[in-house]
Amino acid sequence: MNQSPITRALFDDVMTPNYAPAAIVPVCGEGSRLWDQEGRDYIDFAGGIAVTVLGHAHPKLVAALTEQGQKLWHVSNVLVNEPALKLARRLCELTFAERVFFANSGAEANEAALKLARKYATDHGGPDKREIIAFTPSFHGRTLFTVTVGGQAKYTEGFEPLPPGITHVPFNDLPALAAVISDRTCAVIVEPVLGESGVVSATQEFLEGVRALCDQHRALLIFDEVQTGNGRTGHLYAYMGYGVTPDILTTAKGLGGGFPISAMLTTSTIAASLTVGSHGTTYGGNPLACAVAGAALELLADPALLAGVRHKHERFLAGLHRINQRFKVFRELRGKGLLLGCELTEAWHGRSRDFIKAALEEGLLVLVAGPDVVRLAPSLIIPDELIEAGLQRFEQAIARLVSETAPVNQEVVDAR
Ligand SMILES: *Cc1c(COP(=O)(O)O)cnc(C)c1O
Repeated sequence: MNQSPITRALFDDVMTPNYAPAAIVPVCGEGSRLWDQEGRDYIDFAGGIAVTVLGHAHPKLVAALTEQGQKLWHVSNVLVNEPALKLARRLCELTFAERVFFANSGAEANEAALKLARKYATDHGGPDKREIIAFTPSFHGRTLFTVTVGGQAKYTEGFEPLPPGITHVPFNDLPALAAVISDRTCAVIVEPVLGESGVVSATQEFLEGVRALCDQHRALLIFDEVQTGNGRTGHLYAYMGYGVTPDILTTAKGLGGGFPISAMLTTSTIAASLTVGSHGTTYGGNPLACAVAGAALELLADPALLAGVRHKHERFLAGLHRINQRFKVFRELRGKGLLLGCELTEAWHGRSRDFIKAALEEGLLVLVAGPDVVRLAPSLIIPDELIEAGLQRFEQAIARLVSETAPVNQEVVDAR
């Protein structure tokens, strides 16, 4: 067996090249801190892409995992298990849902939601009610169906033929939706806050209008809360903050606090279309995943934690505004709760990855949301001291970026 050291370089030799991971290899984490192979520490404003809502190695999640790990890992869906039933019951208590389907990733939860919408339309609307409407830009996962619904060419090109029956209209554009929705529409799917696509919040009027149009045409409204769910926006689910209730809600990322699990929530009437054998997954509702998610949900449903998210939102925004007063690199600072987007000024457009790289060099993990937006999605319980320490590192990173690589002079570019 090859005994050569495990390094970042090995990625290029043994893994498919569809990612471009950073130069470091993290080996352990605690709360909102990570350490790499060299023992260097990082403050985590990325949260594993909005996943580690309770930080790394939270004692209650570790306890749930190890306790369940010694009892029962997997039984498949030919048997029920206690953690799954308990978690489903709690999700029904805490949300509009009356029925829950568990899967393992956001894409799978959305796949289930979209398939259910088609099936429900088959049962209640007839064979012509097939159309799914989604918004651009948006992101719903990487299966062929969800990537097609997402409607971004960069994710579908080369994978054709794509599944038909999907229409796209611009996000936050109610007249555009009104122009295409009809009785042939079986579902509309929307992210309450665009996550991957730039951290843009749906307007109140937009979501209310989408709900009304769906009702008018008997189309199901699907909220993709894979990123906005589980306390991320300062509400347990973002729909609660808007006061607009979907027919189907999908959740993943933060649900297991880092353990892979997703869920599709819906009403009993709609769920009835998922008859025995019509859909399924081997791992969905796995006892280990459900035990961890159950422990996470108990913490996330605490009103004090959710109030803390809104408080930390203000702290982040104040700090980011302070940084921006000095460097003027951000055109807009936006987002809800601890899903924050820093849109770069024109001069810095296309360079969000440079900010990730500079931050990493200062010992800070941040994300991008497209080429023009730096995204922050830290743990929802990140201590205020670490917010300040992380913002200081961010400021140093930006200072260096600004001094080292002054943006291309726009006048020179225009003159060419
Ligand atoms: C991340 C994400 C997905 C996909 O989730 P996976 O677990 O990567 O399959 C879907 N929808 C939204 C809104 C997301 O942010």
